[in-house]
Amino acid sequence: MALIVQKFGGTSVANPDRINAVAERVAKHYKEGNQVVVVVSAMSGETNKLVSLAEEMMEDPDPRELDMVVSSGEQVTAGLTALALINMGLKAKSYAGHQIKILTDEAYGKARILNIDSNKIQDDLKAGFIVVVAGFQGVDSDGNITTLGRGGSDTTAVAVAAALKADECQIYTDVDGIYTTDPRVVPEARKLKSITFEEMLEMASLGSKVLQTRSVECAGKFKVRLRVLSSFEIKGDGTVITFEEDEKMENPIISGIAFNRDEAEVNVLGVPDTPGIAYQILGPIAEANIDVDMIIQNVGKDGATDFTFTVHKRDLTKTLKIINDEVKDKINAREVVGDEKIAKLSLVGVGMRSHAGVASKMFKTMADEKINISTISTSEIKISVILEEKYLDNAVRVLHKAFDLDKG
Ligand code: ADP
Ligand code: ASP
Ligand code: MG
Repeated sequence: MALIVQKFGGTSVANPDRINAVAERVAKHYKEGNQVVVVVSAMSGETNKLVSLAEEMMEDPDPRELDMVVSSGEQVTAGLTALALINMGLKAKSYAGHQIKILTDEAYGKARILNIDSNKIQDDLKAGFIVVVAGFQGVDSDGNITTLGRGGSDTTAVAVAAALKADECQIYTDVDGIYTTDPRVVPEARKLKSITFEEMLEMASLGSKVLQTRSVECAGKFKVRLRVLSSFEIKGDGTVITFEEDEKMENPIISGIAFNRDEAEVNVLGVPDTPGIAYQILGPIAEANIDVDMIIQNVGKDGATDFTFTVHKRDLTKTLKIINDEVKDKINAREVVGDEKIAKLSLVGVGMRSHAGVASKMFKTMADEKINISTISTSEIKISVILEEKYLDNAVRVLHKAFDLDKG
């Protein structure tokens, strides 16, 4: 007998028929003698709808009340899933986040899970219940409802699996595993049997939204065995996220390509090339709670330099306002320019550590296609570039081919 946590995403619980199909699958595992905890997302599109409703009431919704509104989508699907299971003659119970004390910090909209009281779930499992948990939501120490950030049901599932010391956490979604890149952009993308935890963390944080980054971090911290599978196909082993990097004698140099269309670039042009400039620009941005991703300061010329950084598209207007109102004159910058039409593309692979020449091959492939790169950043196992958004799909395709990712 195993204890399995099974998470079903928005498309998997999009309507009553699909919820019944989810219940069938859960029942199958339960009847095979396993203990099953189910974590569900809201029906696909529902969270966006709830955000829009809140925005109709107030331009920049109060974060506490926004979480109150958006968390409701998961409560509905949790209850409906339990009803589907009960209707099949099984014992099932659903819980909202606060009922099983998914304790988080107070950061509405991006709360972090601090603790889960697993006793109630354990008691239910022992009593033969299938436990259904509403994903994406928690409660802070003052009893306020919080949410974990978009895609956060993945993190609920992994955190529940960690708290219960589950044998496996299975993420059921609308693709049958982790691919070399998003199969919606590159049809030749190849499904991976396994991917190392480190690579998955990079892929997720660089834009592959198949798993929320925090869920991968949590799996790493608590060594949760994580698997991504199709909720529509019965057969198939999906993709396992492994901790054994050296499992294969020879790791492929590149395992995958991730991309992100959510970032915008801010260029602060003609700033004096003096110490403290980076702090003067980024300090007020950090104070406003805006996350900065890539940061590049160009080589100075004639005592002046250009400073570039990226933020989430939704934060661009706010960022430009802060720089223009509070920073520009203070540091004597010539001009501040924002650009929303950019994308970030990243090659990821642990094999890069031991292979030189990946960057030059990447840049040559892009140059041959006349794709201009504006910003580059590298780490041991990834190379990221910023390019114009209109070139992104083509760039992903040609690089996928150039690095033979379509061949096994
Ligand atoms: P869910 O609603 O089940 O949480 P998501 O939409 O969050 O599903 O994640 C699944 C989607 O992730 C897929 O439909 C696919 O388009 C996208 N995706 C992006 N990169 C990858 C990748 N490398 N492998 C598989 N899917 C990917
Ligand atoms: N429903 C939430 C979202 O759409 C959480 C999730 O699906 O994981 O982001
Ligand atoms: Mg998701």
